[in-house]
Amino acid sequence: MLVVKKFGGTSVANKERIYNVAQRCIKEYEKGNDVVVVLSAMGKQTDVLLDMAKDINDRPSKRELDMLLTTGEQTSVALMAMAMQKLGVPAISLNAFQVAMHTTADAGNARLRRIDTERILHEIQQRKIVVITGFQGISKYEDYTTLGRGGSDTTAVALAAALHADKCEIYTDVDGVYTADPRIVKDAKKLDEITYDEMLELASLGAGVLHNRSVEMAKKYGVTLEVRSSLNTNEGTIVKEEVKMEKMLVSGVACDKNVVRIAVVGLEDRPGVAFKLFRHLANHNVNVDMILQSIGRDNTKDISFTVTEDMAQTAVDTVERHRSGSLKCSDVKVNYDLAKVSIVGAGMQSNPGVAARMFEALYDANVNIHQISTSEIRVTVLIRKDDAERAMNAVHKEFDF
Ligand code: ADP
Ligand code: ASP
Ligand code: MG
Repeated sequence: MLVVKKFGGTSVANKERIYNVAQRCIKEYEKGNDVVVVLSAMGKQTDVLLDMAKDINDRPSKRELDMLLTTGEQTSVALMAMAMQKLGVPAISLNAFQVAMHTTADAGNARLRRIDTERILHEIQQRKIVVITGFQGISKYEDYTTLGRGGSDTTAVALAAALHADKCEIYTDVDGVYTADPRIVKDAKKLDEITYDEMLELASLGAGVLHNRSVEMAKKYGVTLEVRSSLNTNEGTIVKEEVKMEKMLVSGVACDKNVVRIAVVGLEDRPGVAFKLFRHLANHNVNVDMILQSIGRDNTKDISFTVTEDMAQTAVDTVERHRSGSLKCSDVKVNYDLAKVSIVGAGMQSNPGVAARMFEALYDANVNIHQISTSEIRVTVLIRKDDAERAMNAVHKEFDF
């Protein structure tokens, strides 16, 4: 059996934790299984490196940032292989170059395209535990790239798919996927199972326990994931296509504070204005999330949209650049003080009234809703950042998990 095990930053934060992980992997190896380990950088090392970069240059180039950030994962894999060797087991660390993990050239947000498996399989055949850097890849220009924050999960799933692994286990600092972030909602409950679709929505809406692309990839290649803790032996959460349980009305609540709203006020109320606005934004690779257009008045209308914090400045600059030309407007307002709270559940499709229950819970908690968006299996509200934790708890309580 071939098992891919991924350990996040907290799981390898110091010497004791590294030895703990080494021992867990060796236990698997001693059962006669082939073991591929994917690691994140130690503890908060990626944040430390980001701060170092910003201290040198407040707008560092993405290429150099990736060059720097990839050192985090390279450190943890080398130390892990040393720990395993010290425990008497043959192990080898490999980085993205040595494996050859090919990605697109989008520094800081690259997508995996192809993984060469030859070197890994060769090392496995030598009965070595292979310890691989998460989060990083190489572009066609042979530059290091990174897959976006939290991207080691995606490396692990991609490796599991490429190697046709029998298992893909994601070890983290909580023992599974909960109905809400257990750090924010104390009554959150662990889910035994969850579908790819629901997990993908939760992950995309801020449940940072899994990188959303890892779930997308797991669904695409049919990789069953197990999320569990590296610090205990509790059963985790299984993420897969179909779950045995009756579909829950709502399976989770998620919160995302990485949201900025940009309102373009007093645009001309005629055909083509929205097209031009979003075309300009797309040309600058700005990913837009929630969009709201006001009813026209006095031949003008307002359009507001949300973006992630790292895109806010580019979005504002783009609109400002076209204000005297194709995007005549009276004002551009930016609001950093917002958060999104969402409920996700496959059972919502056949049950009207779920959104109303969410809004009532928010009303009772005195939380004002700025904007709403929905899909078949989710409802999202935009609210004040300061209200986010109260809103999460109120909504979670309403659905009585
Ligand atoms: P790792 O470094 O292991 O990848 P992360 O910090 O990326 O760990 O993810 C684990 C964290 O995700 C948990 O500590 C928890 O606070 C947070 N989290 C957010 N939403 C959820 C959820 N629904 N279930 C479990 N954990 C969640
Ligand atoms: N080290 C990277 C990060 O902190 C990748 C990861 O942990 O998954 O975002
Ligand atoms: Mg993570």
